[in-house]
Amino acid sequence: MLTENQKQAILVLRENGKTYDAIAELIGASPNTVRSFWRRNSAVHSRHQEPQPGHCKNCGSPLGGRHSTGHKIFCSDKCRYDWWNRYRRSQPYRLVCKQCGKSFISFGNQKKAFCGRECYNLSRRPKGVP
Ligand SMILES: [Zn+2]
Ligand SMILES: [Zn+2]
Repeated sequence: MLTENQKQAILVLRENGKTYDAIAELIGASPNTVRSFWRRNSAVHSRHQEPQPGHCKNCGSPLGGRHSTGHKIFCSDKCRYDWWNRYRRSQPYRLVCKQCGKSFISFGNQKKAFCGRECYNLSRRPKGVP
């Protein structure tokens, strides 16, 4: 089973031209898992990554309804380009979440402590309080 973080890493790293083997090693999954996930998702990966439909993933401006196809995620080609460029320039780091102990991939930020918002929130809950 791949986590959301691993899935995103596969998509971004494949865009970067990394091999299945290299990705598998980095995220701690088997090359077969990586390959089959990529095959299933490469065609729809831009839609897959969109957490908030209707807004440009790069600049956050609302996307016009005129060409609304339901899976547009950037307001322009420039924004798409900028966004991918940011990832391309970032070095992927394999880190371990301080809350759940699972490994996850962080792009460009080696000091990231948690795999996601949920773990961040959990970590802020006081411990030992009934
Ligand atoms: Zn934009
Ligand atoms: Zn975690």
